[in-house]
Amino acid sequence: EAIDAARDPLRKAQWKAGPLLATDVPEGTVQEVSNPADPSDVVGTVQHATADDVTAAFDAARMWDASPAERGRVLNAAADALEANLAPLFVLLAREAGKTLPDCVAELREAVDFMRYYAAHAPSKEPAGTYVCISPWNFPLAIFTGQISAALAAGNAVLAKPAEQTPLIAHLTVTLMHEAGVPAHVLQLLPGGGEVGAALTSDARVGGVAFTGSTATALKIRNSLAQHAAPGTPLIAETGGLNAMIVDSTALPEQAVTAIIESAFQSAGQRCSALRCLYIQEDIAPAFTAMLTGAMDALAMGMPWDLSTDVGPVIDETARKGIADHIATARAEGRLLHALPTPQTGTYIAPTLISVDGIEDMTREIFGPVLHIATFKSGRMHRIIQDINATGYGLTFGLHTRIDDRVQFVSDRILAGNVYVNRNQIGAIVGSQPFGGIGLSGTGPKAGGPDYLLRFSRPGAAE
Ligand code: ADP
Repeated sequence: EAIDAARDPLRKAQWKAGPLLATDVPEGTVQEVSNPADPSDVVGTVQHATADDVTAAFDAARMWDASPAERGRVLNAAADALEANLAPLFVLLAREAGKTLPDCVAELREAVDFMRYYAAHAPSKEPAGTYVCISPWNFPLAIFTGQISAALAAGNAVLAKPAEQTPLIAHLTVTLMHEAGVPAHVLQLLPGGGEVGAALTSDARVGGVAFTGSTATALKIRNSLAQHAAPGTPLIAETGGLNAMIVDSTALPEQAVTAIIESAFQSAGQRCSALRCLYIQEDIAPAFTAMLTGAMDALAMGMPWDLSTDVGPVIDETARKGIADHIATARAEGRLLHALPTPQTGTYIAPTLISVDGIEDMTREIFGPVLHIATFKSGRMHRIIQDINATGYGLTFGLHTRIDDRVQFVSDRILAGNVYVNRNQIGAIVGSQPFGGIGLSGTGPKAGGPDYLLRFSRPGAAE
């Protein structure tokens, strides 16, 4: 009972958020934020920023007038504050974003790593100016803090717009950063939907944009900057992927199955890096697919904060419907290979396996726990790589083989930002293995790497 009493205030609390601006602003519309796992749970409300708020935020924005060492010190204090507040952060990640507890832990670690890495490398070059950071809902803490802490480390004024699905966690994070010493006119929060993002990226005063989201939105932002912003205004875009993995007949089956389950179904497949299209060599395909479906059957769907849960809900009803339609089409075409039963409440999609002839059958990124599977005959490796490269995306790629020459052959030819051999296709290490794609998957430079911070300083600016 004592434990319940201690956690209920967090679990049942209703959170209130809105713009965090350096000046007073008129009221925008208020949106309710609900829990994807439980529609009856209203997590809180958020007031959207208005067009006037966007103008006011640009008016008030000031670059961070502190030495690189001082900026680094404050960002480290902000990282300490995140670590000291893991309970409310985890509750919001679970309730607002539907994250399982292991995902909450990984996400907080990544956010803190980003902050400390950029803090340690705060440059002494002239900042770009007022940086607009637009983030997605799938990593509402890690990507949000990664973008803003890089922009802040470089001394920019930051206008941050979180995704409309996850404004509460962003609000708590910015509040903690202000308390840690980031000045209010240096970091401002503008919650809202695409219209707020569009207003922020069409103001002539924008000094740069860091964006993570869909390829379509990245193209809109590029056009808007071309029309309204100074020539050469940087856009860092990290976008989608149609990520493939090849498993040949020399692969270790248990290792490959574990890697596939993690890569395709962890975070309910809502990672831009997630595995979407698996190629299995024909001679092992029947036995391997049986092992894979067996491993899928062991996945538990449930409430995100239950320790036994492997797969939580997808983010909202729009997402659920889009994925369910894709599965229904596959079922009608006789391509549904395996699917688990779906829970009755919340926006859940059960882990699903769909057969395809190859990645060329996939016309769009399905952002959920759905894996497409194709078989290949020996001698076709070169052709498959061509097909994967022909999608135009190039984010992650996985290979399971025990043939060393094949590792070399494939790595030399595959166009992907991050290549994973004989392991899962997940993650990056801030500082040593930065993350980012090529082609339709993003502009680079890779987040968490040495080149990333350079984009937040004025090009050609002296040390
Ligand atoms: P996703 O599929 O991840 O929701 P989006 O590209 O739609 O991808 O969203 C990513 C972020 O971009 C969100 O914060 C969203 O509000 C924002 N956004 C959407 N449309 C625009 C736009 N036209 N201009 C700027 N930002 C936008």
